[in-house]
Amino acid sequence: MDNISDRNITGIHHITAISASAQENLDFYSGILGMRLIKKTVNFDDPGVYHLYFADYKGTPGGVLTFFPYEGVQKGRKGAGMVNTISFSVPSDSLSYWESRLDRHGIYRKEVQTRLGDERYLYFEDNDGLGLELVFNDNDNREGWKGGTVPEEFTIRGFFGATIWHNGGEETVSLLTGAMDHKLTISDGKRKRYAAKDEPGAYLDLVTVNDLDHGAGGSGTVHHIAFRTADTKNQDIVREKVSELDLYATRVIDRQYFKSVYFREPGGVLFEIATDGPGFTVDEDLDSLGTSLMLPPQYEDRRSEIEQLLPGISIS
Ligand code: ZN
Repeated sequence: MDNISDRNITGIHHITAISASAQENLDFYSGILGMRLIKKTVNFDDPGVYHLYFADYKGTPGGVLTFFPYEGVQKGRKGAGMVNTISFSVPSDSLSYWESRLDRHGIYRKEVQTRLGDERYLYFEDNDGLGLELVFNDNDNREGWKGGTVPEEFTIRGFFGATIWHNGGEETVSLLTGAMDHKLTISDGKRKRYAAKDEPGAYLDLVTVNDLDHGAGGSGTVHHIAFRTADTKNQDIVREKVSELDLYATRVIDRQYFKSVYFREPGGVLFEIATDGPGFTVDEDLDSLGTSLMLPPQYEDRRSEIEQLLPGISIS
């Protein structure tokens, strides 16, 4: 399967994590990281909780980070069977800009490190302790959000990838390289990088950790990672292949902005396969994305009740 057009999965679609405070979440990702809030909606399975989407201008798959902010929820714990780090792609020459920006805002960070040859990255964490990285590279043609708080030349271009701490089981690898169209792109032994497409926005690193406890959900942890597929036809093929591996895959669920199938991979991470369309302009104009509370049709008649449940938040 060397031709990308033969692949049903083409990279990461979005990543969804849990935070404790909606306002702090907004202040961090919009205010400090300079991402665009492209959708303010609710958790479709729990409409008393927000679902906030941060991305580039229009919410291009491969750069959409979303949160369920559960006010005051307990902190989670990093561990095996979880996505523990989300990596953003930024230009190489933005390094000193980001170091001083994170420092100026008092963000916990480590020094710049190097891995897999000459890949430079900077590890930091949000207020809830969610593991984040900036990966400095010049292999990314995507545009960042120009209307945000970060100068255009330094903006986040989207995801670089994500890292799963993995206890070594071969089933996860077989799933990725079989039903999910990934290939091993590079490895240093401990870190193995898989991708459906060898470019930023598609990298999934498995870091082998032995004898590490499973992580625990809570604020500062990833709830699930979604992989992108062109349409429901491709999605059906993946769903079929996953089901043949005796993994329970849900029916196709309408998430308003994409259609989704979920299953838990053998190592414990919740995976989603999400369609590229219809996208985030299905209920709002491109220019006004994220400015109003958007509810899916099934909750529209409960709007006033839901608005009372949600804390007021605003972009400062
Ligand atoms: Zn999702």
